[in-house]
Amino acid sequence: MSSRQNRRLVSLLLLALLVPCGVLGFLSVRIIRQEGELRERRRLEEEERAAERIARRLLGRLERVREQELRAWADRARNRGQRLAQNPATALVGRVKDGRLIAPWDDDASPREFLEATREPGFAKRVRQGEQAELVERQPAKASALYREVLRASRRPEQRGEALLLLARALESSSAPGRAVAVQEEILALPSSIIDDQGLPIRLYAASQLAKDPGHEKALAAALHEILAEPRWLSPPACYLLRDLSASLTEVAPDLPGAVHRRLLEVEQVLALRDEYPKLATLEEAARRTTNGEPVWLPFGDDELWLVRTNPRLGELPPSVVAVRAEPISSGLEAPGLAGLSAARDPQSRPLGPSFPGLYLAASPLDARATTGWSLPQQFYLAALALALTVALLGGYLLWRDVRRELGMAELRGHFVSSVSHELRTPLTAIRMFAETLREGRLEREETREEYLDTIVSESERLTRLVDNVLDFSRIERGRKTYRFRPTSLGAVVRAAARAVQYPLASQGFRLKAEVEEDLSAARADPDALEQAVLNLLTNAMKYSGDARDIDLRLRSIDGRAEIQVVDRGIGIPAEEQTRVFEKFYRSPTRENELLPGTGLGLTLVEHVARAHGGSVAVESRPGEGSTFSIRIPLEGGR
Ligand code: ADP
Repeated sequence: MSSRQNRRLVSLLLLALLVPCGVLGFLSVRIIRQEGELRERRRLEEEERAAERIARRLLGRLERVREQELRAWADRARNRGQRLAQNPATALVGRVKDGRLIAPWDDDASPREFLEATREPGFAKRVRQGEQAELVERQPAKASALYREVLRASRRPEQRGEALLLLARALESSSAPGRAVAVQEEILALPSSIIDDQGLPIRLYAASQLAKDPGHEKALAAALHEILAEPRWLSPPACYLLRDLSASLTEVAPDLPGAVHRRLLEVEQVLALRDEYPKLATLEEAARRTTNGEPVWLPFGDDELWLVRTNPRLGELPPSVVAVRAEPISSGLEAPGLAGLSAARDPQSRPLGPSFPGLYLAASPLDARATTGWSLPQQFYLAALALALTVALLGGYLLWRDVRRELGMAELRGHFVSSVSHELRTPLTAIRMFAETLREGRLEREETREEYLDTIVSESERLTRLVDNVLDFSRIERGRKTYRFRPTSLGAVVRAAARAVQYPLASQGFRLKAEVEEDLSAARADPDALEQAVLNLLTNAMKYSGDARDIDLRLRSIDGRAEIQVVDRGIGIPAEEQTRVFEKFYRSPTRENELLPGTGLGLTLVEHVARAHGGSVAVESRPGEGSTFSIRIPLEGGR
């Protein structure tokens, strides 16, 4: 096929196939992308609705907790340092004074009561006497006796605690440390609610003294546990002291440092909230203007997330701040695709609305996975696109193959016309030349005349065979080829064919060795067609023998079938061409083949004849060694 034809074919295919495929692909990708965008939009809308729902429910819960806490707070307004939360999620309820948040431990009444009790005139007077003896006169023994007096006269627990502290101090400096320890142990056993004006439960003083000597670990751990269990805010100094003490008690109370650490973090977060409060209050005020009076809760805290709200003065109650832990209050509020609350914004998270400025719902990891996959309609579109493209490409390939075959056939036909003309001219020229010589009568020798006549006969026979081949082929093509089958002796057919090529064989110096099995049974055959097939094989054997001059012609029976073989020792056929030589018009595209006359129809006819007889034709060949063509047809009676 010429490269121009090829180019045209390729451009046509491109136009007819690839362009529509491209358009189809482009449209499908667009649809798939749109589908994805739609899905994403739907997901976002759903998430938005879910976020709104969560925000509403969260606000309801927070407001309920706030009311509950404020009511309870009003009831115990006398001692606001207590940590008695009505709801386990509450982190802090703190008073606001002059725009500043008062830390709850600073609001604790106990230190004030301690101060009141110890400043009672009678008590204070006795204490002063003891201190005179202890610090001025430097008589610890006298001081101890006086402090014992104070202890006996104490009426309130705070006074008792103070007296014991003083007594322990005096005994410490007198030469009675053993008695001092006993007093320290007594102080350690006092209730945790006795807190001095420094904000330290006085048990802690005794604890830090006793911790200096071994042997008190168990009692100390028990006391520290009790202090922690007391429903009361601990001041930062109390927390730091507890931390130092608990660090030396890990052996008897391994859980103590952890518990103290948690309390410390909580206290530090309250301190941070106290510092940040003025800023938060301004923020809250600004946010409330955008919510039409709806309450506003602000997120706060690095360690633990709290939600914070300011309360104005309510009747008896002063202005206050309520902080609620985000995790417990929001538990069970998740929606598909949304996980817990967070104060950090990332591209996947979703704001919780105007009531919660700066608060977000984090996207759940499961959801991130869902958005990257293909949805069902997308999968369907992809499958349909893949199917359409596969079918189109397959169709295109088949079309391309057929068109190529057609073009090849047209080219072969073109060759055929020129080779037929060539093949016709050769015998015609020979016949004319020899006939003219004979007519002029210039031949002297009788043998030469005979020889010329033989050549004329042989060439006209060759001409007849050629014309017969072309006519037969044309009949086959039109489906008009008919065979007249009758019981036939194959030996006779083979011998007739050998006789027909006797002269050309002899004139070109070929030796034909015929081996014919004599007692072969007859076959149902068309003797003329079969002879023509054998003649075609013999003519080919001569044509493609090259320099070799031996040709075998065999007839024998194998397994109830007759086999007619024509064997040459000529140029042979390459393996890849051995099936193609039976195709119509096919001629081996070698240089030497082009020099030999031929139409590419001979073997096509041989195959047609063999098949018409219920048989087949096969070739065995090696380039340079020769070829063996075998026609096999069934015998009548099986032999
Ligand atoms: P033609 O001989 O007219 O070209 P055929 O159909 O008889 O057409 O043969 C087809 C092709 O098969 C030939 O062109 C040749 O290349 C190859 N061929 C046929 N017979 C032989 C043979 N005996 N030895 C080698 N090549 C052969």
